[in-house]
Amino acid sequence: MRDTELYRHLLGLEAPWFVRDVELDVKGQRVDVWASHDEGVRWPCPACGIDLALYDHSEERVWRHLDSCQFMTYLHARPPRVKCPEHGVLQVQLPWAEPRARFTALFERFAIDVLKETDVLGATRILRISWDEAWYLMERAVRRGLARKEKRVVPSLGVDEKASAKGHKYLTLVCDLQRACVDYVGFDRKKDSLDQYFQGLSAAQLEGIEAIAMDMWEPYIQSAREHVPGAEDKIVFDRYHIMGYMGKAVDTVRKREHRALQAAGDETLTGSKYLWLYSEENLPEIHQDRFAELRGLHLKTARAWAMKESLRDLWGYRRRGWAMRHWKRWYFWATHSRLQPVIDAANTIKRHLHNVMTYFAHRITNAVSEGLNSKIQTIKKMACGFRNREHFRTAIYFHCGGLELCPATHGVPG
Ligand SMILES: [Zn+2]
Repeated sequence: MRDTELYRHLLGLEAPWFVRDVELDVKGQRVDVWASHDEGVRWPCPACGIDLALYDHSEERVWRHLDSCQFMTYLHARPPRVKCPEHGVLQVQLPWAEPRARFTALFERFAIDVLKETDVLGATRILRISWDEAWYLMERAVRRGLARKEKRVVPSLGVDEKASAKGHKYLTLVCDLQRACVDYVGFDRKKDSLDQYFQGLSAAQLEGIEAIAMDMWEPYIQSAREHVPGAEDKIVFDRYHIMGYMGKAVDTVRKREHRALQAAGDETLTGSKYLWLYSEENLPEIHQDRFAELRGLHLKTARAWAMKESLRDLWGYRRRGWAMRHWKRWYFWATHSRLQPVIDAANTIKRHLHNVMTYFAHRITNAVSEGLNSKIQTIKKMACGFRNREHFRTAIYFHCGGLELCPATHGVPG
């Protein structure tokens, strides 16, 4: 088989396209392939599909293709152009690449697979592409995926913030809790960050939102109220965030008590910080003896801890009415504890109680998006430093967006 014929098969080129020439550069470890087409062929207008005669050719272009063994392989061609009476002079669609791509569709598909499996730097080494080319490929993939995304109703949303870099830059993530993927990434954590998501939805999509898990974060609350019909009963303040507030209260009580004890030369609470933050059933066995001892000492911290653990039980009730009774008892206990951080936390929760109790209608939590959060944390580490927030956003969509990222490679083997 002649090398031109071999490459025609490898590239999956079909008539009217054929391989005119192949050049092997052993020293440069590269193969260059030139594709041409038969004469007198008619080409469909890329806009309307009507068959037209060749008008002229664009300048020769080159696409990086999959390697031939270890040789980097480049495809060259002069794209034909047609002159459509309606759409003017346009370049025809090429079977091996998307319009304006610098890589063939097969290369893009392979690069997406590699980028899915490894970090950006690793991918640049395996694929022998530059850092910027890797991002170019990821951005194209994400754009492709977002363009293809159908307008579906997402019944359960989780809204969460994510620190994107040092200096407290934030991203707002909207997660589809049922499909466990990120539906939207916005910049900052302002009202506008979430407004933009809702503004991109149709009336039917907004209507279809049944429940939104979120933190008690005023800008998000306002945005949801403004856009989502019936938001009042759909917002569910996430139990993990609420327990987070309580955990902080326990920690503040501990810090103050520890300081007071230390002033009297008492080191009882030294090194105990994390013991109080575990939920009871998650405390590692090696700490259990010490912790049991601490709990027996009538410490303020131990009381605060007991209230934290009791609050957690709230979400275990099967009925809202029972949960409400538990809440009232708990609130009384907490507000009579004479522990200011606990009293403050109890009042914060009380102010938002309506949307804490909506849990019993919807039973959603942000746990799924917390799972995604840890995946995103990994992405952040893997990307060894994003130069900007756009890159971080691209990577989140790429890895967690549940998008169809690959270009179509119809008519091409592989
Ligand atoms: Zn046309």
